[in-house]
Amino acid sequence: MQDLPPNNSLWADGFKQSGKRNEFNNSYDVAIIGGGFSGLWSAYHLLKLDPKLSIVIFEAKSTGYGASGRNGGWVSSDYPVYRKTLEKRHGLDATDNLFKELANAIDEIGQISGQIAPKASFVKSGTVTFARNKAQERRLKESADSEHFWKSAGELGQLIQVTDLRGGLFNPQCATINPFQLVLGLANYLESKGVVIAEGVFATQTNGGVLANSSLVKAPVVIRASEAYSNPGREFIPLYSLMIASEALSEEIWDQIGVKNRFTFAEGTHLVNYAQRTADNRLAIGGRGASYPFGSKLIEEKEMTSSVHQNLEIMAKRWFPVLKNVKFTHAWGGAVAITRNWEPYVQFDKSTGSARLGGYAGDGVTMSYLASKILADLIVGRESNVTNLHFVNREIRKWEIEPLRYLAVNSLVKLSGIADKEEARTGRPSLVSRLISPLILR
Ligand SMILES: Cc1cc2nc3c(=O)[nH]c(=O)nc-3n(C[C@H](O)[C@H](O)[C@H](O)COP(=O)(O)OP(=O)(O)OC[C@H]3O[C@@H](n4cnc5c(N)ncnc54)[C@H](O)[C@@H]3O)c2cc1C
Repeated sequence: MQDLPPNNSLWADGFKQSGKRNEFNNSYDVAIIGGGFSGLWSAYHLLKLDPKLSIVIFEAKSTGYGASGRNGGWVSSDYPVYRKTLEKRHGLDATDNLFKELANAIDEIGQISGQIAPKASFVKSGTVTFARNKAQERRLKESADSEHFWKSAGELGQLIQVTDLRGGLFNPQCATINPFQLVLGLANYLESKGVVIAEGVFATQTNGGVLANSSLVKAPVVIRASEAYSNPGREFIPLYSLMIASEALSEEIWDQIGVKNRFTFAEGTHLVNYAQRTADNRLAIGGRGASYPFGSKLIEEKEMTSSVHQNLEIMAKRWFPVLKNVKFTHAWGGAVAITRNWEPYVQFDKSTGSARLGGYAGDGVTMSYLASKILADLIVGRESNVTNLHFVNREIRKWEIEPLRYLAVNSLVKLSGIADKEEARTGRPSLVSRLISPLILR
């Protein structure tokens, strides 16, 4: 077990699970379940507010085992629900406040990672969503706003040379990182401040604390930060996001692609995709398309759905024909947690000391930072700008029962792919997409 890497991604390649940190006391002020960004940032923010707190983090596998150690490294202001929907649901002020706090969070992550995780190679150079057919062009133009600036094909072509480019959106509010390095830096920093990180310890919340493996640990506050890697009931569904990464590309190849300052990028398709130029000059690209597992059961094989990995490689080579003979050396995947209305949750019940956070739907790198900051304020009883954000202490809307959920989610995943093919063929906004979008609730 200890010879295995901490997770299956490019980022953890060459690392070993430490397997050392599994000793802990029988009482703490705060016990956290889950050693990903949500758990680590929660400890970080709590310590900032009260350095005297004693904190333990229980991680069933290895720190960064979950999505935090395997993701696409977009530190973005993207929120799972579209801005227009948020404005309708919660009003203009609430929506503006949210995006302001997301932008602050990106800058704060940048400052902190510069100090404690320089190897995360944080660079804030924005994100580009490009259009490669008329339907995408129309949709992206319509979604331009105060943060997403439309750029013509000529303007965008200065930044990225992708085939069939018809222009796209540039959003300056995004940074690129190596996520596993940020996890490592954060974990080391927390340990240096006295936080105990107990790895290989499966923890369950009990009355007044947690059952950690078979030991009872008392803690008046327990934070569940296990996101997609826990039993979701009907509160969220796990969906798999898959990635591949190329060998390191030469400067000559990058000269033909662009992406000089390592902004993140994606095509404006219906099926989610996302890419970055890594600090060591690989192309790392990810996307959805793997089927949803019946009953929301995590099934490890889904992380390696070969058809999705193959489609990602085909897509990359279609964007950049110069990659024709390039090898893709890494393929992996992980789960993201999606709530029924696509809103994240941050909840704290003062009377029981029970807290939890998650439901970031694949936009969790910045959101986990913000959610943890909110949670820390709620726990120490501090009212702030962020504790008033619209999703704080909201109830979670439940997903439909099975087999409805299975049929609906998998149909939507399939139909999103079909809608993209239809748009590429006809250049017109997809009819399929128009039919399914009201069902998606975002
Ligand atoms: C392939 C992929 C690409 C992604 N790309 C991006 C991106 O580019 N940008 C972005 O913003 N978001 C992205 N995401 C989403 C983002 O990574 C997650 O939203 C975020 O990392 C969630 O952090 P977390 O700490 O809440 O959960 P996780 O990182 O999943 O951590 C949960 C941890 O809890 C542990 N755990 C579970 N149960 C227990 C238990 N009972 N006891 C002890 N430990 C337990 C697990 O082992 C796990 O390590 C991506 C996700 C994936 C899978």
